[in-house]
Amino acid sequence: MQYKEYGKTGKKVSVIGFGGMRFRKEDYEKSFEASAMAVRRASQLGINYFDTAPFYCDDKSEEIMGEAFKDMPNAFYVSTKSMLNHEKTADDVRGRVEKSLKRLGIEKIHFFHMWCILNLEQYRKVMAPGGPYEGALKLKEEGLVDHIVFSTHCNGEEIETMVNEGGFEGVTLGYNATNFAFRQKGIKAAYEKGLGIVTMNPLGGGVIPQNPEFYSFIKENEQDTLAQAALKFNVSHKEITVALAGMGTVEEVEENVKAGENVGEMTEEKINRMAKMLNDSLDSLCTGCQYCNVCPEGIEIPKYMDAYNMYILSKESNRIKNRLKWHWGLKAKKAAECIACGKCEKLCTQHLPIVERLQYIAKL
Ligand code: SF4
Ligand code: SF4
Repeated sequence: MQYKEYGKTGKKVSVIGFGGMRFRKEDYEKSFEASAMAVRRASQLGINYFDTAPFYCDDKSEEIMGEAFKDMPNAFYVSTKSMLNHEKTADDVRGRVEKSLKRLGIEKIHFFHMWCILNLEQYRKVMAPGGPYEGALKLKEEGLVDHIVFSTHCNGEEIETMVNEGGFEGVTLGYNATNFAFRQKGIKAAYEKGLGIVTMNPLGGGVIPQNPEFYSFIKENEQDTLAQAALKFNVSHKEITVALAGMGTVEEVEENVKAGENVGEMTEEKINRMAKMLNDSLDSLCTGCQYCNVCPEGIEIPKYMDAYNMYILSKESNRIKNRLKWHWGLKAKKAAECIACGKCEKLCTQHLPIVERLQYIAKL
């Protein structure tokens, strides 16, 4: 397993992190032991970054981790979260942290996330006096939290604004071979500011392993599975500290840890080549370049087109709504507000039929 410095925190973390959102219901409904075994096996094989959250796995993930932590083979770091929808005030955050500490059975949270900041308006609410950030800061002073970090689905410029204001030591964001063009600005901004960068969703919500032919371009080593190649794709970026892989079984752990060995380096030249390949191989895919983001009706077009990508790659229309709702916090019906002025299509670098796609989404 390879390790990297997490920003300026002085902590060295494994390039593959354990994502605690994929424990299997059929296991944890009976007992936590099988899931906890997967966590301990990960520790044994060198993973030392364990990410969980309230509400993952029917709100059982923190408890499962807590069960595993009673008997971990090696030292480890824990990341968990607080979400603005649930914890709106400093006191709410204290309550959340106390609950998490109890469930995890540990004395402090190493990486505490202001979870899922979707836009700058939400960011301002998080940072407002008496708000969640202030609560986290107090807990840090008391030694219950080591580092305050955030997770986000914002675009590069918004991430830049947040990191430049200097409140955070790290960021967790979605990054993979389907959206790297959209997110690169964000990871560059965070890297330049010295933040640790954790990536989630390296498999593109399953789209990458489900489309092996299309995504074969990310494979550097023929022996790697596509899932391993997708994880390596992330950790080979010098900017990225950890790629989180959701795991629920010992077998999945043993498969994923292999991606933390013999990782190459992703150069600028390589990434540009891949971006070009992506364009050449599937012209109908939105690359997330943002040029079309000019809608007079306030439709966040790149996010709607990203959701449509899921449909192109999976052929399942319900992926669009799920992506909008759970990843972007948007509603499909907003697409119906398009007045077909055509401004976005004139600017689209891929010449995509944006209006037609929005009409399709609106009908969902
Ligand atoms: S065509 Fe529709 S989506 Fe595009 S800019 Fe005009 S109103 Fe917005
Ligand atoms: S300009 Fe085209 S390719 Fe770029 S984000 Fe907009 S829809 Fe996607």
